[in-house]
Amino acid sequence: MENVLKSNKKVFGTKEWAVKNVNFISGCQHDCKYCYSKEMAIRFRRKTPDNWKKEEVRIKDLEKNYKKYKGRIMIPSSHDITPVNLESTFIILNKLLLSGNDVLIVTKPHFECINKICERFEKFKKQILFRFSIGSNDSSVLKFWEPGATDFQERLNCLKFAHKQGFETSVSCEPMLDYKIDDLIKIIIPFVTNSIWIGKANFLLKRMKTNGINDKISIEKAKELHE
Ligand code: SF4
Repeated sequence: MENVLKSNKKVFGTKEWAVKNVNFISGCQHDCKYCYSKEMAIRFRRKTPDNWKKEEVRIKDLEKNYKKYKGRIMIPSSHDITPVNLESTFIILNKLLLSGNDVLIVTKPHFECINKICERFEKFKKQILFRFSIGSNDSSVLKFWEPGATDFQERLNCLKFAHKQGFETSVSCEPMLDYKIDDLIKIIIPFVTNSIWIGKANFLLKRMKTNGINDKISIEKAKELHE
């Protein structure tokens, strides 16, 4: 991803999406093989390849207060929103929205979470943009790369639901996990009001090595994705 701000300064990664990221959990049960946050957590000895799946709420971050920022705030960027951490997510979302912030909620969505977020934050609808991560319309592909995350049908149901409830919606196909991008876009586009982001997995083999993924099949599939 690459974008240019008013200052003509190029920005990359999540800075294209938001002026600030808010995170409050260490670890992620989705355990994606290509996860950058997992790579960083292992490299800086905050987590191991095995215990990354265990989500730990960081109380200090939960207790922070938030001012109104100029520009959108992305939540989260280094973990995900799951049924296990939903109550903590509510606490942070409530503070951000009450301060008047525009919020970008980025997630491989669980229906339970999206349903409750839409219900609880209905009156803040205009401040919320959902961005659902969907890298394939094939659940077996998603299961292979993102073993703890939801299947395609559940993510699509979340997209349809948020759209029907009148929230702004967008989709991130970054990383795209197969080459059937046209098929995927055809399915999702009727339910997207904002944008669709498409990109490849970066530094896949290096990242997988740090993340403890070294089986032959994963390495072969990673090479196929980089052809
Ligand atoms: S959902 Fe995001 S944070 Fe969680 S393991 Fe996958 S890439 Fe990492």
